[in-house]
Amino acid sequence: MGNCCKPSHTLPPMSVPPSHQTPGQGLAAAEVRKPWRAWWRRQAPHRQDRFAALAPLVAVVLFLAAIASSFLYLRLEEIDREQEAVKRDVEYAQQQIRLRLLERQEQLMRVARDAANEEIDVEEFVSRAQSLISQYPELQAVSWIDERRRIKTSYAAPSLHTPLMRMVDDVLRPGETETNFSLARDLHQPVYGQPLGTAGDPTPLLQLHIPLTDRGRFAGVVLAEYGTDALLRHGVPAEVLNKYAVALVASDGRMLAGTVMPPSTSGSRLLPWSSQAEPYEIPVSPVGNGLVLRAQAYRTSQGVVGSGLFWLVGALSVLTAWMLIGSWSHTRKRQQAQQALMAETNFRRAMENSMLTGMRAMDLQGRITYVNAAFCQMTGWSEGELVGRTAPFPYWPEEDLEYLIARLEDELNGRSTPSGFQLRIKRRDGSIFDARLYISPLIDAVGKQTGWMASITDITEPNRIREQLSASYERFTTVLEALDAAVSVAPLGSPELLFANKLYRQWFGSQTHGHESLVARAGMPSMPPNDEHLDDVDAYAGLPTDSLTTSDAESAEIHVAELGKWLEVRARYLSWVDGRLVQMVIATDITPRRLAEEQAAHHAERAQTSSRLITMGEMASSVAHELNQPLAAITNYCNGMVSRLNGNGIAHEDLLAALEKTSRQAQRAGQIIHRIQSFVKRSEPKRSLSNVQDIVQESVELAGIELRRRNVRLSHYVAARLPPLMVDPILIEQVLVNLLRNAAEAIDSAQRPPQRRNIELRVLPRQEADVPGIEFAVTDTGTGLAPEVMEHLFEAFFSTKAHGMGIGLNLCRSIVESHMGRMQAENIYNGSECMGCRFSFWIPLAKAANALPNPANAAKTPGVPA
Ligand code: ADP
Repeated sequence: MGNCCKPSHTLPPMSVPPSHQTPGQGLAAAEVRKPWRAWWRRQAPHRQDRFAALAPLVAVVLFLAAIASSFLYLRLEEIDREQEAVKRDVEYAQQQIRLRLLERQEQLMRVARDAANEEIDVEEFVSRAQSLISQYPELQAVSWIDERRRIKTSYAAPSLHTPLMRMVDDVLRPGETETNFSLARDLHQPVYGQPLGTAGDPTPLLQLHIPLTDRGRFAGVVLAEYGTDALLRHGVPAEVLNKYAVALVASDGRMLAGTVMPPSTSGSRLLPWSSQAEPYEIPVSPVGNGLVLRAQAYRTSQGVVGSGLFWLVGALSVLTAWMLIGSWSHTRKRQQAQQALMAETNFRRAMENSMLTGMRAMDLQGRITYVNAAFCQMTGWSEGELVGRTAPFPYWPEEDLEYLIARLEDELNGRSTPSGFQLRIKRRDGSIFDARLYISPLIDAVGKQTGWMASITDITEPNRIREQLSASYERFTTVLEALDAAVSVAPLGSPELLFANKLYRQWFGSQTHGHESLVARAGMPSMPPNDEHLDDVDAYAGLPTDSLTTSDAESAEIHVAELGKWLEVRARYLSWVDGRLVQMVIATDITPRRLAEEQAAHHAERAQTSSRLITMGEMASSVAHELNQPLAAITNYCNGMVSRLNGNGIAHEDLLAALEKTSRQAQRAGQIIHRIQSFVKRSEPKRSLSNVQDIVQESVELAGIELRRRNVRLSHYVAARLPPLMVDPILIEQVLVNLLRNAAEAIDSAQRPPQRRNIELRVLPRQEADVPGIEFAVTDTGTGLAPEVMEHLFEAFFSTKAHGMGIGLNLCRSIVESHMGRMQAENIYNGSECMGCRFSFWIPLAKAANALPNPANAAKTPGVPA
C-alpha cells in the first residue's frame, strides 16, 4: 500500500478509479475487464444481440438450479435433523421402557425372594401379584412355577385373553420349558423370553423368568408376563407416541405392538413431497435383541410448506423464463424491424446521395429545413450553411432577386405549377447554371402539411444538348434544302408525305404525287418485295425490314416531260423514326450529264467516222494503186478498141467482148470506191442482224488493199453456220480493218522475210462465262507487244509509230464494249522468243446480249451511245 498515493502510469488519468478504490484494485479490475471487453467487441453485432438475449435466460436457469440444489440441501439437512430427533426420542422411550421393566423386575424379584424363602404363601403371592398387576397395567400375569415346571399358582389380569391364562397344576408348555425356564434355572438370573404369540393371538406377551433359589437350590421360577401393547402404551412417553409411529418388533421382524406406517409409494424420500421418514430401531435393553423398539416420524407440515414454496419458486421461475423467452422473441422482432428500418434508411440515404436531383425542404415560413447532398454539390454551399436560412438565399443571383422572390411567394402560397419553373442558380464560386425547380407539399406522418419540398435539376446539359440538337437539325435541313436533288420520304401505301426538301417542293409541290410518279416511272415497286407465304392479311407482318433497309438502293434514269429534265431516281426503304417502313426517293437532275453524254456519243461517232477517213487517207496510196489496175485495164481496153476502130475495124463480137471486159474493170473500180465510200460514210450507228461471213469478207477486201501493198499474206477462217450477230456491221468491219492493218504494219516494221509475212484471221463460236458468242482473232508475226506498250495499249493517243494517231485501239475497244463484248491482246511465244501477237475480241449473240447481267454497262461506257 506504500505506493497507493502514486498515480499509476500504466493507466490513463481518465481511468483512475474513485478515491475509495485503490489504484491496484482498479488496475486489476481494468485488466480483468479488458480481455472481457475486447472479447465482447470482437463479437459480431448479431452475436452480441444473441448473447444479450440469452444471458437472462441462462441466469434464470442457473437461479432455478441454485434454488433446486438449496432445496435439496435443506431437505437433506431436515432429514438428518429428523433422524437425529427420532434417535433421541426413541432412545429416551427405550430408556423409559427399560426403567419400567427394571422396576417391575425389581419388584418381582422381591416377591420371588420372599416366595423362595417361604416368607409368603400362595395366597400372599396371589395378593402381591394382584396388587402389582392392578398397579402396573403392562403386567398381565404373574405365575409361581415349581422346579418341576408345574404351576403352583397364577394370577392374570382380567383383561388377558382367556387361552393365555395359566391354570394351577398345569405344566409349562414344552417350548417355554425348553428355552427360558431352562435358561433361568441354569443361569440363576432373570431371563426375558422371546414373546410368544400363537397364531391368532392378538396380544403377544413378553415373559420374564425369575429363578427362585432356596439356599442355593433351584426351586422354580416366578413367571411374569407383560402385554407388549400395554408396555408400549405405558412405557413410551406420550409425546413420543404422538410424534412417531412407534412399534415393538420381535427379533424376527414380527410386529408385536404399536402402529405401523404404510410403505412409501412416492419414490425418493428426498423429494419434498415425500411423506415418510426413515424408521429408527433400537433393542429394548434388559430384553436384548428379542424386543426391538422401532419409531418412524410422521411427515410434518414443514414438508408441505417446503414443497409449496418449491412449487411457487418453480412456477415463478417458469413464469420468468416464459416471460424472458417472450421478451426475447419480442426483442428479436423489434430487432428485425429495426434492421429493416436501418436497411430502409440506408437505402434511402444511398438513394438520396446517389441522386443527381437536388432536394430542398422548406417549412411553411420559408426557412430551409433540409438539403440533400446533390443540392449541396450543385450549389457548392454546405448543408450547415443552408439549413435554417430564409430568403434571399445565398444561391440566388442578385440580378434575379425580384423574380425569385415572386416565385418563392408563389411557392409558399401553393401557386406553383406542377411542371415547375426554370431559374438560374449561383454557385458558391460565383458561376451560374440553369436549373428547373419542381415544388410539392411536404406532408408529415399524420397527414398535416409541414412545408414544401423542392426538387432541382441542373438543366445546363439538357439545354446544351437541345441547342446542339436544334443546331444539328438546322445543319441537316440546310444541307438537305441546299441539295440539288429532290428528297422525299413517304410511308408505303399511304398518301402522307413525311419529308420533302426544297427542290422536291419546287418541282412537285408539297403533295406526295411527285414521289409516287417518280417511283412508278422508274418502274420501282412502291411496296417492298413481298413473299407469297407471308401473312396476306398484313403485308408487312414479320417482314425482315433490316434486309430491306440495308439492301442496295435501286436507281433508274427517267425523263420527266413536265419538268423537261432527265432525272436519276434512287429509292430505298428506311425504318422511320416511329418504326414505320418508309420509302425514300432521291431524284437528281442529270439533264446536263445526259446532254454531255449525248454530245460525247456524237463526238465519238464523229471520231469513228474521222478515224475511218484517216484510215482511208492512210490507205490512199494503196487505194490509188488498187484503183490503178482496173483504170489502167479500162484505159488499155479503150485504147485498143479505139485503135482497132480507127484501123482495120473490129469485129462486132470482139468489140462486145472488149466492152464487157472494160465494164467489169469499171465495176471492179466502182466496187472499190463503193466499199470505201460505205466504210467512210457518216451514218447513224444502227444495229441489225448481220452475217458474220459478210462482215469478214468486206473487212478482208478492204484491208486486202493495204496488205497487198505491204506484201503481207492473209489467211482467214470463218466457222461454218455461225449465227447472225446483232451489231452495226460497219463498226465491226472498222475494228477488223484496224486490227488487220496494225498487224500488217507490225510485220512490215519487223521487216520479216516473205515467208513469215502472214496474218491469220479466225472467227469461231466461243462461250464466255456461259454466254454464247463469237470470237474474232487476228494473229500476226510481228515483234509483239513490249510490256510498257501492253500497259497503255488501249489508251487514246498512245502510239509508238512516227505518224500514228494512237486512237485506233481505243476506238476498237469502245466499239466492242458498246456491243457488250470484250477485247484483249497477248503475245505469242515460241520458247522465249516472241513470235508476234494476237488481238481478239468477243461479241455475244443477240439473245445472250439481252440476257447479260449488267446492261447498264452499255450506258456507262463513255463516248458510246447505248
Ligand atoms: P496507231 O496505229 O495510230 O499507232 P493504234 O491504237 O492502232 O494507233 O495502236 C497503238 C499502238 O499499239 C501502236 O502504235 C503500236 O505500237 C501498238 N500495236 C498495235 N497493233 C500492234 C501489233 N499487231 N503488233 C505490235 N504492236 C501493235
